[in-house]
Amino acid sequence: MGKISQKEIEEYLGFKGEDFDFLVETAGKVRDKEVGNKVYLRGIVEITNKCIKNCYYCGIRKGNIGISRYFLEEKDAIDCVRFAVSQNLTSIVLQGGELKDKDFVFYVEKLVKRIKEINPSIAITLSFGEQDFETYKRWYDAGAERYLLRIETSDKKLYEKWHPESHSFEQRMKCLEMIKKVGYQTGTGVLIGAPMQTISHLASDIVFFKEFDIDMLGMGPYVIHPQTPFGKIYGDWFEKNRKNIFDLAIKMIAAARIVLKDVNIASTTALDSLNPEGRVYGLKAGANVIMPDITPMAYKRNYLLYKDKAGLYSSSAESLFSVLEIVKKSGLVASLGEVGTSPHFLKKRKNRF
Ligand code: SF4
Repeated sequence: MGKISQKEIEEYLGFKGEDFDFLVETAGKVRDKEVGNKVYLRGIVEITNKCIKNCYYCGIRKGNIGISRYFLEEKDAIDCVRFAVSQNLTSIVLQGGELKDKDFVFYVEKLVKRIKEINPSIAITLSFGEQDFETYKRWYDAGAERYLLRIETSDKKLYEKWHPESHSFEQRMKCLEMIKKVGYQTGTGVLIGAPMQTISHLASDIVFFKEFDIDMLGMGPYVIHPQTPFGKIYGDWFEKNRKNIFDLAIKMIAAARIVLKDVNIASTTALDSLNPEGRVYGLKAGANVIMPDITPMAYKRNYLLYKDKAGLYSSSAESLFSVLEIVKKSGLVASLGEVGTSPHFLKKRKNRF
């Protein structure tokens, strides 16, 4: 398949019925050819639901006073890592709201170092939003290899409709550049099917991923959270559009796989909020990463970015078990004990030397 134009991507995203099935099947074949039939597991630890930002769609936005905030002590985070090691989960994602104070920067740096002391071969992905260059570099030097910063949309005007004025699209893009420059495997992603978004916006997002040369993708469908500004306006609209949003998310995964070929693509938990088999479909449509939530149960129920999040009342062992079942149902092979570096990143590095 040669170079694919924005118009062709838009066509993919409009597919229905047999065309939809064909797109999913084709993407699955591209995944098998480019990155194999293995699914890499990443144990997610949700460090904190505190955030200084106020994105209109997000349940843990600063302005939501209806949730109880938590911050995982280092000891609790390390227990999660020990659980992961005991299960041969060698790739960890440390995720949380955006905090920038110096205590937080130090906490993450120290935690990354501790994890590497426990097991130097564990691959660490960080996802703590926008930081300055020095912070990204400190965390990288401490041992983190990957960073995920979702841009949510590559369209400045749409970004501004989804965020308050104080949130800068330009700054988000600069941060993504910094992450790449520091040397991380660079991950990003967008919201799919959110209010005011068109097929054309989404096709442009895939073109952006390609042009930016990203290594990892973590995209999810828009799922409403009632205690947000969007939740108050778009409740009926969301319920009417559930199925379309889900289908669009699957088509985005498939189209991204066909266009980007060898990047790591996650089948994200939000898919399960819209369809009980959501993550199975995500894997069938070309994804090759899945992330069991190994945050302690007492905390994970407060990390509610959107409603109906799957696995809120599951222990870490149950989350891992259900993820392994999902992989089995998708007909792929769960890869435990492998860090699952982005093949795209590996090729780029090889070509550099
Ligand atoms: S989307 Fe991210 S940055 Fe925005 S409020 Fe939620 S956690 Fe914070």
